[in-house]
Amino acid sequence: MKFETQAIRTQTQRGKQREHSTPIFATSSYIFDDADEMRQIFSDEIPGNVYSRYTNPTVKEFETKVALLEGGEAARATTTGMAAIFTTFACLLAQGDHVLMSQAVFGSTIKLMENYFQKWGITFTLINSQDPAEWEKAILPNTKIAYFETPSNPGLQIFDLDAFGKMFAKNGIISIVDNCFATPYLQQPIKFGIDIVIHSATKYMDGQGRVMGGVIVGKNAHIALIEQFMRNAGPTLSPFNAWILSKSLETLAVRMDRHCENALKLAEWLSHHQKIKRVSYPFLESHPDYEIAKKQMKAGGGIVTFEVDGDLEKGRKVLNNIKMMSMSANLGDTRSIITHPASTTHSKLSPEQRSLAGITNSMIRVSTGLEHIDDIIADLNKALSTI
Ligand SMILES: *Cc1c(COP(=O)(O)O)cnc(C)c1O
Repeated sequence: MKFETQAIRTQTQRGKQREHSTPIFATSSYIFDDADEMRQIFSDEIPGNVYSRYTNPTVKEFETKVALLEGGEAARATTTGMAAIFTTFACLLAQGDHVLMSQAVFGSTIKLMENYFQKWGITFTLINSQDPAEWEKAILPNTKIAYFETPSNPGLQIFDLDAFGKMFAKNGIISIVDNCFATPYLQQPIKFGIDIVIHSATKYMDGQGRVMGGVIVGKNAHIALIEQFMRNAGPTLSPFNAWILSKSLETLAVRMDRHCENALKLAEWLSHHQKIKRVSYPFLESHPDYEIAKKQMKAGGGIVTFEVDGDLEKGRKVLNNIKMMSMSANLGDTRSIITHPASTTHSKLSPEQRSLAGITNSMIRVSTGLEHIDDIIADLNKALSTI
């Protein structure tokens, strides 16, 4: 089946009411017919649910769908995107291991390494390059994991998935990609040889700014380890949030088509505006990684970043004169959202780290929503006319 059909028709559970929509199994535990069955299910001799920290049918349906859509063997869903990242690292890393991490990743991901994993005896190298050869040079004998985002947040740098996948496989390193900005609809890193894909489902997977969630997709061997870790550590997604996310996946393809269409129109419009110094969008020919983006992505995504011609004050004035778009730190919502990364999502990073991640003081990020593009442009046009 095609992506759209899988997203809609994957139903792993059905109740006894002949319900058409997917049901929510809002239960923390499950009952057994007799002591023997209980013993067998508890010891994994026969499949079955025991306790919703371990497995829940609604959560399982969301996980099954995401695994299918990403082209992975299995998936596990977590409470948030950060919980997915933490779980993966905490499960796969041991004292003495080393991690290669892109500089251009979500701020909290770097903070996790700096503030926690480092004190637990795990070292890491932050790499400011999209060249696989540069990453290969940084590999140490104890390097276990390599981690990057493409497109990155908010710099929209693109990493060549094919080249990186092959290079890490050759070196026996577990490669992990945060695929949050692209979603499996636009790009499937596992098909390029990446081992594990992580999502903040809070963003485009929900797509309507309602719930938090995360998901980890990969090979059975890795996901089995992650499942064991999650049983003990407990970052499991709630059935209600899993239900929301499962329903949301049914519309992911149509939503992403419109997000991308609006974002491309916005980026093109901005690139002709005289008060704009620079526009970044992966499917604009002016983007430095345009060729790679075209090769591995179906469309350019919903995020556009730009810099106004002027200082921080001018950037702030534009933000303050926006009327329709929401000023918020989230992204991937039906509602267009405008953010100033340097003072919000990436404010905890040092100025050097920000500049290495490609974030300047006057950079503005728009998560292009599903409103009519004319209204999005009119809102920004009015705000730009004030500077
Ligand atoms: C938001 C985000 C995260 C963190 O996800 P939460 O659901 O907020 O915990 C991780 N990576 C990227 C790229 C994000 O945009």
